[in-house]
Amino acid sequence: MVGGKERRAARRNAGQVILVVLLAVLVLLFAALWLADVHHLVMARDRTQNAGDAAALAGARWQAETLELEGELNLFHLLALAADDAAAVDAITSAQVRALFAGPLAGVAAAQQAAMRNGAPSNPDFVAFVRDAASRARREYAASAGGTTALPEPWPGAWDEYADMLDAIADGGVAAGVDNAAFYGDPAGGHVLLDPAFYAAVLGRDWCWFHRAAPGLLEDYSDFRWWPALPDPPEAAPFSPELLGLHLLPAPIAPARVARMDGVDEALEEAALRLPAWTGDAPDGLPAQAWIRYDLSRWGGWEVMRDPSFPVVGDLRPEYDYAGADAAMRVENPVDRLTSPESGATPMVWTAAAKPFGYLRAETGGRLPPTATPLVLPAFREVRLIPLDASSAPAGGAFDLAWRRHCAEHLPLYVARGPSVLPGSCRHCAALARWEIPAFRERGVRWLSTNAWKCTISPHGGGPGGGSRHAH
Ligand SMILES: [Zn+2]
Repeated sequence: MVGGKERRAARRNAGQVILVVLLAVLVLLFAALWLADVHHLVMARDRTQNAGDAAALAGARWQAETLELEGELNLFHLLALAADDAAAVDAITSAQVRALFAGPLAGVAAAQQAAMRNGAPSNPDFVAFVRDAASRARREYAASAGGTTALPEPWPGAWDEYADMLDAIADGGVAAGVDNAAFYGDPAGGHVLLDPAFYAAVLGRDWCWFHRAAPGLLEDYSDFRWWPALPDPPEAAPFSPELLGLHLLPAPIAPARVARMDGVDEALEEAALRLPAWTGDAPDGLPAQAWIRYDLSRWGGWEVMRDPSFPVVGDLRPEYDYAGADAAMRVENPVDRLTSPESGATPMVWTAAAKPFGYLRAETGGRLPPTATPLVLPAFREVRLIPLDASSAPAGGAFDLAWRRHCAEHLPLYVARGPSVLPGSCRHCAALARWEIPAFRERGVRWLSTNAWKCTISPHGGGPGGGSRHAH
């Protein structure tokens, strides 16, 4: 027989067991939710990264194919000249100029397919942005006055065809934004207000950034009237599309010079082409004509890869020491979280970069970078992912649409009328409002007067605001 005291104890025990079990179930439930969340986030991150990487590789693949095609057509141009076929020369040159646009834009379209096949959804903001670019080409670039278009056309009707290509891309959906896009109307840069790092330094009170990147600015600045004028867009006849442009251009070169350029004989041999004996004039008598060459203001050494503080493993082979064309692709994936639904769908962002690689064979049998000859020759054999910091993507990212809006709409207002006219919803404008407060800048001056030595310890990584954007 069980006494009342023991029954009460048993009931109490049972109650405790139920409580413990309930708690355990709750913990398990929450853990399950949390795990599902983590799993969901990890999956989403992997998916976003895969989509970004695939898009960058697809874009760079088309860039490599186009470079290769331009190089082969340069060789065919030489063959056509030797055969005295003027019509073929004209057809080749006209195909080359059109391919400078069609090739990279095919790369943009291929990148969208690659991103979507890897689970990235079409991004309505990106679609609208590409449509804007198309209508700008139609409205502004192609606008004609007295028979000439506002922007010189690489061939008659080019800007309308260009706008059609952009619209076709938008029609198919845009999942990957080209973060190293360079729009013809974009300012040339070279202004502190166009540097996203300035805003990050203000918001993060990173005084060392001012010490390193803008010495004297904190001391000299008075108010918004102090800023130098915002730069105008660069003025040059564009021979590259705004997205994935290759920075090549047709330039007059004498055929005799082309025939004697380093690497031409080796490239002909490798393409199994033989230059016939000249049937018409000897090449020395022929006038200069258009060949596709590298724009040397854009193609040069791959400086960032030689910076000893750049965190990259392994050596850069000398034949790969060039930069000029690459693809940086931004994928944004909205992610819903189960455990903190109030945080809403924060997009997961991944920008990946890839680049065409190749080399020329030297007479001596060694390897040379493709840019060893100013003429484009078939040399681009492969594409690889590269660190985002070693790509041509600007710090803001061309498809960072909030940043673009700030540069295009808010900055002109600010330099004309001061911070009071700025919208409160823009993060960069919030930084400008803080920047205008004299006490804020004085704090920085005071801090640097005794602590500036701390800023020189570690220029990369570490230290306040020393973050960077290494994707690989
Ligand atoms: Zn703004």
